[in-house]
Amino acid sequence: MASYYNNETILYLNGEYVRAAEAKMDYYSQSFHYGYAVFEGIRSYRTADGETKIFKATEHYDRLKNSAIALNLPYHWTTGELIDITYEVLKRNNLQNAYIRPVVYAPANMSFVVNEQSFIVIEVWEMGLFLGEKLLRVITSSFQRPNPKGFKIEAKANGHYVNSILASQEAKAKGYDEALLTDINGYVAEGPGANMFYEKDGKLYTPPAGNILPGITRATVFEICEELNIPVEEKLFTTAEVQEMDAAFFCGTAAEIIGWESLDDVRFKLDWNDTLSKKVKEAYSAKVIEAEVMSEAV
Ligand code: PMP
Repeated sequence: MASYYNNETILYLNGEYVRAAEAKMDYYSQSFHYGYAVFEGIRSYRTADGETKIFKATEHYDRLKNSAIALNLPYHWTTGELIDITYEVLKRNNLQNAYIRPVVYAPANMSFVVNEQSFIVIEVWEMGLFLGEKLLRVITSSFQRPNPKGFKIEAKANGHYVNSILASQEAKAKGYDEALLTDINGYVAEGPGANMFYEKDGKLYTPPAGNILPGITRATVFEICEELNIPVEEKLFTTAEVQEMDAAFFCGTAAEIIGWESLDDVRFKLDWNDTLSKKVKEAYSAKVIEAEVMSEAV
């Protein structure tokens, strides 16, 4: 298993910077027992000018807040203060290229009633850029994404990730790199921890909101398509349709943009190097390390 911290590592816990090795949580927490908590997955990068930049920090902390509200978890932090705290945690751990994991969790409570209090922890660990261009062999999962009438599917809730773990473990046990999950109606939804796009005849397509976590990377892909003049459309489609396509990729904060080699052993029509998807990936890699724009261009 990966080691996320050592004796020197500092995390932020409810108003204090403490050693990860000494931090404690309550084993009677409702979050621990029922998966009732919300979290974020954020990245920071060393930018081209050597600064540390949290990519889409506002979007991630706004989503954390919206996830908490969706689950009735009390939330009393502002996006601005959590961003400042996160930069401080990065600094105290001497990290620039990092993965940032805030979790908002519940106090001791074995019942299902609403709490008066929530807690927050912000952990960071080193995560460098993924180098190389290994394409993924993806398999359609036997697991579907959770029913949006059973969960607040647009919230990044910890409990949802039991579904992700089952799907990903199944794909790996069958010898594939990753799973593709459908929604309750059998249309393509997303991966266990990433959204997906496919490419066909010079255009990108992705499932609409409703049965997915509408990712911040997904929104960034829309931005990039606008900048590069690549048409992109939200639409429902089946896995059989994906197999007919020129290319496909997953996108998410941790995975960034990662192309697929095949879906259910059917290879895509274009060489990845000849795809618009690869151009989008390159634009994303450049965007995350862009130096902060100091003034509007005139
Ligand atoms: N879908 C799921 C299920 C995820 O866990 C993630 C990762 N947070 C994403 C999509 C991509 O979201 P983002 O681009 O905001 O990281």
